[in-house]
Amino acid sequence: MAIDLHTHSTVSDGTDTPAELMAGAAESGLAVVALTDHDTADGWAEAAAAVPATGVALVRGAELSTVHEGVSVHLLAYLHDPGHPPLVAALEASRRSRDGRARRMVEKIALDYPLQWEDVEAHAAPGATIGRPHIADALVTRGYVEHRSQAFEHLLAGSGPYYVRYESPELADMVRMVRDAGGVPVLAHVRASGRGRIITDADIASLVAHGLAGLEVDHRDHTEADRAHLRILAAELGLLITGSSDYHGTGKPNLLGENTTEAAVLAQIEAEGALDVIRP
Ligand code: AMP
Ligand code: FE
Ligand code: FE
Ligand code: ZN
Repeated sequence: MAIDLHTHSTVSDGTDTPAELMAGAAESGLAVVALTDHDTADGWAEAAAAVPATGVALVRGAELSTVHEGVSVHLLAYLHDPGHPPLVAALEASRRSRDGRARRMVEKIALDYPLQWEDVEAHAAPGATIGRPHIADALVTRGYVEHRSQAFEHLLAGSGPYYVRYESPELADMVRMVRDAGGVPVLAHVRASGRGRIITDADIASLVAHGLAGLEVDHRDHTEADRAHLRILAAELGLLITGSSDYHGTGKPNLLGENTTEAAVLAQIEAEGALDVIRP
C-alpha cells in the first residue's frame, strides 16, 4: 500500500509524461501516487486516464511557487478545484513571471556560453512551465555540463552569476487560496537548506491560522535531524506528516516511493479535499 505524494512529469520539469509516470509508479509497486507538477494541473487528465490500466490510484495535486520575506517556499496542494478563479489567476501570473525569468537567464548565460532560447524550448513539452531544469538540459546538450545536477552546482545556482528571480505569490495568501479552492495545503521540503534560505518554525506556526494542513517531513533533502525536528513541530501544531520522493524522472536521482506517506494521512487529506482520489 505504498503512497508517494510528490512527483513531477513533463508538464513541468520531470522527464516522464504523466502516463509514463503512472506506469513507473505501478512498476515501483506504488498503490497511490500524487502528480504535483509546478504551478499547473495540466497533467491531471492524462494521468487519470492511466489509472485503470496501471492499477495505481491518483491524487491530483500541484506544487505551487510562493515566497515569504524573500525566501522561496514550495507549497503542495492536493485535491483542489483547478478552476478556482483566484488560483487560476495566481498560477497564470507565476507562469508568466517564470517564462520571462527563464528567458533572461538564457540571455545572461549566452553572453558567456553560446545558447539560444530554442535550445531550451527543445527540452520542454509544449506548454510546459519552463524552469531551470530545462535550461540545464540545454546546457547538457551543448556539452557545457554532464548532467542537470552539475548545471545546478554553478551555472544555475541561486547564488550564481546567471540567476534571475521570479515573482511568486505570498505563502500565507497561497495557503488560504488553496483552502478556498477546496484543496489541502502541505509545505514541501520546508527544511531543505541546500536550496537556499528557509522559513522559521514561527513562520510555519503562523500558517496554521491560514489553513495549513501538513508538513512534508520525509524527503531526501531533509537530514535525520530535520525530520526529527519537523515531526515534533507537526505534533505541536496538529499538522499532518507526509513523506514523498519528489520524483523528476531522469532529471534527478529521486526514485518513486523512496519516501512514503501513511494511509491514515492520505485518508485525512481526502476527507478535507474537494476532489476524490481517482481509484482503479
Ligand atoms: P526553478 O523552479 O526554475 O527555479 O528550478 C527549480 C527546480 O530545479 C526544482 O523544482 C527542481 O526540480 C530542480 N532542481 C533543483 N536542484 C536540482 C539539482 N541539483 N539537480 C537537478 N534538478 C534540480
Ligand atoms: Fe522541480
Ligand atoms: Fe519543490
Ligand atoms: Zn517537487
